[in-house]
Amino acid sequence: MTVSSNGKSPETLPVLIVGAGIGGLAVALALARHGYRSLVLEKAPQLSEVGAGIQLGPNAFTVFDYLGIGSEARGVSVFIDSLKLCDAISGEAVVEIPLQERFRRRFGNPYAVLHRGQLHGVLLNAARGNDLIEIRPNAGVRDYEQGSASVVALLENGRERVKGAALVGCDGLWSNIRQRIVGDGAPRVSGHSTYRAVIPREDMPAELQTNAATLWAGPKCHIVHYPLSDWKLFNLVVTYHNEAPEPVAGVPVEAGEVRRGFQAVTPEIRRLIDRSEDWKLWVLCDREPVANWSQGCVTLVGDAAHAMLQYFAQGACMALEDAVCLADAVALSEGDFDLAFESYQEARILRTARVQIQSRAIGDYIYHPSGIAADLRNAEMRSRTVGDWYRSLDWLYGHNPSLFSSAARERSPKNHELNSARMPDIPVR
Ligand SMILES: Cc1cc2nc3c(=O)[nH]c(=O)nc-3n(C[C@H](O)[C@H](O)[C@H](O)COP(=O)(O)OP(=O)(O)OC[C@H]3O[C@@H](n4cnc5c(N)ncnc54)[C@H](O)[C@@H]3O)c2cc1C
Repeated sequence: MTVSSNGKSPETLPVLIVGAGIGGLAVALALARHGYRSLVLEKAPQLSEVGAGIQLGPNAFTVFDYLGIGSEARGVSVFIDSLKLCDAISGEAVVEIPLQERFRRRFGNPYAVLHRGQLHGVLLNAARGNDLIEIRPNAGVRDYEQGSASVVALLENGRERVKGAALVGCDGLWSNIRQRIVGDGAPRVSGHSTYRAVIPREDMPAELQTNAATLWAGPKCHIVHYPLSDWKLFNLVVTYHNEAPEPVAGVPVEAGEVRRGFQAVTPEIRRLIDRSEDWKLWVLCDREPVANWSQGCVTLVGDAAHAMLQYFAQGACMALEDAVCLADAVALSEGDFDLAFESYQEARILRTARVQIQSRAIGDYIYHPSGIAADLRNAEMRSRTVGDWYRSLDWLYGHNPSLFSSAARERSPKNHELNSARMPDIPVR
């Protein structure tokens, strides 16, 4: 049985969405826009996000507008003036990419930094206020059974079976749904450790209270800081490439551990680490790109489909784009989910694989080099004009994932990303 545009009717089966993170809620909202009912099954007892910041490119705002939450998302955003890269050894500014009027005109939308909890809250409020969306916390999905025209989610409590017209796995890096479809085991541990903290504005050194996302790049380490929540807070993210062997997510650690990897950098940056005692650790993981994340009326979205390192600040943006593309594919196929999920996957694979692959390269060749390789990075970056930077970002920030957009009509699904741009240069190899 398929759900057609009369999805409001209570007797039609809902689309089952596994996971109420950014990706899952965006899928529910995007499907509702086309009249499809969904039931979001979330493992956690409470619906929330980690208390840290997130950067969003203009491509995320294209999605917010599509979902009808553009003004709410803009209302919790800080619109920074630039992305800045500094050398963490010399303390010099290497490059500053402006994000004001010229940037917004080129990409049609702003670049922003937000508190994750506030962003999740915007999506959650919109979902809760939508009659076509039901959200069930405490409903972890262990597995599913696929029939000829329906699917049954098997809950982790071992007792319940929930039937739907289709199933979308938005269950993140450790996705159970991915294991059934792709079966590629645990994610790849990158060996990079990231420590996050959020501090009140008054604890941020005055000279670092700038309206920018600033990244200090050092040998096998970098630190990022930017303002949040109407400038009441600052987000700090410290990363070391320290060959950490095991995956870790959100575990509290002593500040001493955070300081240890930052001995070689400028005193200004070392002092910044001292500003918080409340650090949490993630050992970063990603996955190899794959080309088979859909099977019949079951598919994947976001980290479940294409987990990536955070170095392009695009994981959540890709999950949001996926949601729009998936919902449009369902609408275009008039509820034939097998067909819809195949064309959704085809439209998304090259783009998301490119971000996965380039995110790794950015870590190695831009954020973490030392010695001559770092000097070469600095020289190459300084030689670029603002126009050069914008051109190299057109493919990423200028994208509209809607299959109803004029750009989508022009591009063939197979090569649309390769048509639009060559791979941008990675300055230091
Ligand atoms: C340090 C760091 C910094 C980052 N910075 C940025 C950034 O600046 N910009 C950006 O765009 N991206 C960033 N990202 C990436 C971004 O956080 C992720 O790509 C994004 O959160 C993925 O969303 P998702 O909904 O796919 O998965 P998740 O956010 O992981 O959500 C998955 C949801 O599924 C639930 N779930 C899990 N298992 C089950 C189950 N069995 N049954 C039911 N529910 C289940 C979980 O509880 C969760 O609610 C960063 C990531 C990290 C680690």
